[in-house]
Amino acid sequence: MTLTIIYKGVPQNGLIISKNKYGNRTFFGDNWPNRAHHWLPCVEDPADKAPVEFIVTAPNHYKVVANGVLAEESNLSGNRKETHWKETVPLPTKVMVIGVAEFAVQHIGYAGNCIPVSSWVFPENRKEGFYDYETAKDVLNWHISYIGPYAYQKLANVQSKTMFGGMENASAIFYYEGSVTGNRSEEELQSHEIVHQWFGNHATEKSFAHLWLSEGFATYLTHLYTESKYGTDSLNKRMEADRTGVLEFVSSSHRPVVDTTRDYMRLLNANSYQKGGWILHMLRRELGDTVFHKSIRDYYAMYGGKNADSRDLQQIFENNAGKKLDGFFEQWLHRPVNPKLDISWKFLPGNKAIEITVTQLQEGAAFAFPLELGLDYKGKSTEVKEISISKKTETISIPIAAELESVMADPNISLLYEGQIKRQ
Ligand SMILES: [Zn+2]
Repeated sequence: MTLTIIYKGVPQNGLIISKNKYGNRTFFGDNWPNRAHHWLPCVEDPADKAPVEFIVTAPNHYKVVANGVLAEESNLSGNRKETHWKETVPLPTKVMVIGVAEFAVQHIGYAGNCIPVSSWVFPENRKEGFYDYETAKDVLNWHISYIGPYAYQKLANVQSKTMFGGMENASAIFYYEGSVTGNRSEEELQSHEIVHQWFGNHATEKSFAHLWLSEGFATYLTHLYTESKYGTDSLNKRMEADRTGVLEFVSSSHRPVVDTTRDYMRLLNANSYQKGGWILHMLRRELGDTVFHKSIRDYYAMYGGKNADSRDLQQIFENNAGKKLDGFFEQWLHRPVNPKLDISWKFLPGNKAIEITVTQLQEGAAFAFPLELGLDYKGKSTEVKEISISKKTETISIPIAAELESVMADPNISLLYEGQIKRQ
């Protein structure tokens, strides 16, 4: 059955008609999370995907960008132009858009298996914009090799008027106006939005309650890209900053990561982004790089083009790890608190061992997790020992190899927790 809906009007939201910072008129779709219905007749559920085509008639001084492949661009009478974009891969409505403005457009080249990458910037920003956005090709290539095939037939990076820093619209990413600086300052934002092409756009959360499957992935896979380019120190710095952000947020919000609020804007928080990223980080540290990487690839291979929730991801990790992970997923996704630890250590008589006492101070049941300890030997390097914690209070003795200077908790930034270590 074909249903034809004819409608007209000026949208109040969703398709934002305004002026850019140079005073020129622009039209940009900005649908997230559920504002598409202001200009498109649709069901706004991330699990209800559809292919989409836009045929736009506009004054011919404008250029029009949208999802998919450019099927036609023709001049019409009266100084008008018709532009037809066609996306055959089903999309959630949150990432179905058009952008209409005066643009300078640069074709950068091809990524992966012949994916054309282009930059669309305001003509006033042509030089700096082309310079800044050019890095997207390498970022796209990195993620194709890490995650798997890219689902769409192009990638346009577009300077826009989105209310967000960036909006991951499928194959036509919209960045905020100020993203053009001339010094490539938004490489991580670029990576974040590019990761969404896999996670969020193609492998999509079943409902907004599982938004971390989009935002946590975009956050952490950007850290992985950064780690591969700039080294492990850059990853550790970001994980520490993210941990601080999560602890601050959770202390005032008291909400779990899987959050069924209907106020979707409230989900743009440190739980969905930074704690989501931390959950992936802890899976990687606990299960190892090989199982982690295979699980990310398997999850995308299985749910690309479909929808998934946190249980589906858990299943993939369990298959690859060869063990149940109910406890891990339950405590990190569904509890509104994180471990709050009081850690103390002392020498045992004879100085051949130390005794560590870990007390969990957070409300509710104990968390179960591996805790790494850095043993700092006098004049020598640090040895890392891992202990397994699962009770509210635990005392464990650890043999030491030489004269010990100090003990450090979590030296490799592998655990989401708050607290200090002190000598008794
Ligand atoms: Zn995002």
